[in-house]
Amino acid sequence: MKILITNDDGIYADGLCGLYFALREEHEVYIVAPEVERSAVGHAITIHYPLRVREVRRGKHFWGYAVSGTPADCVKLALYELIGPVDLVISGINRGPNVGINVLYSGTVSAATEAKILGYNGIAVSIDAFEQIDYCFAAYFVSKFAQNLKGLPLEEPFCLNINIPHLNPHQIKGIKIVRQSTAKLREIFEKRLDLHGKIYYWQGAEEHTEEDEDTDVIALKKGYITITPLHFDLTLYSAFKTLPKSLNIDL
Ligand code: MN
Repeated sequence: MKILITNDDGIYADGLCGLYFALREEHEVYIVAPEVERSAVGHAITIHYPLRVREVRRGKHFWGYAVSGTPADCVKLALYELIGPVDLVISGINRGPNVGINVLYSGTVSAATEAKILGYNGIAVSIDAFEQIDYCFAAYFVSKFAQNLKGLPLEEPFCLNINIPHLNPHQIKGIKIVRQSTAKLREIFEKRLDLHGKIYYWQGAEEHTEEDEDTDVIALKKGYITITPLHFDLTLYSAFKTLPKSLNIDL
């Protein structure tokens, strides 16, 4: 397969490197990724600044294109200008999970969603850890999963959000296909004073309030690899049952 890989942790991130080396034996792999970390930018695109592209080398070899934009910018630019059509876009492996409401804030997931918007297959991959991460198993899992894609009854283009526990392979309980949790996050703001006596805030560590077993949040917490098929249509279809077809308001 011809595969584009990108991420939101930046072109120098270990997770992207692990993914590349797990895939390159069997696939034609291209890297187009943000030049710096752009985590939590969601589906932002860059329209008020130019997009600069720089060729990055590792040792003597060309590594990939670093883009001065967001993950969604990278996918657009890669597919339209830098690489052209591919069979699959993989975003990751992200440092930290992307489950529940955080899926909406995730740059990693948005890169995979952007692929689907443009008519390509996309996969977002994240690992459930932030420190001292071993990406080996997660990268191995993605390569195995990519090999097995053809056997899956997926409507194309698909967008899959995969989260992998940071456990030894024998401790992983299995693979669950689950819905995205929509439970609230417990938001935490830390209020501080700067040197001039002015108040500022740090927005940080959130916790999911989910309890339903059949969600990405809980399945991941219990040690399962989770796979959630995603769509970008935000329409609330159930509202059509109660809302009238049109409104009579004098305009
Ligand atoms: Mn990230």
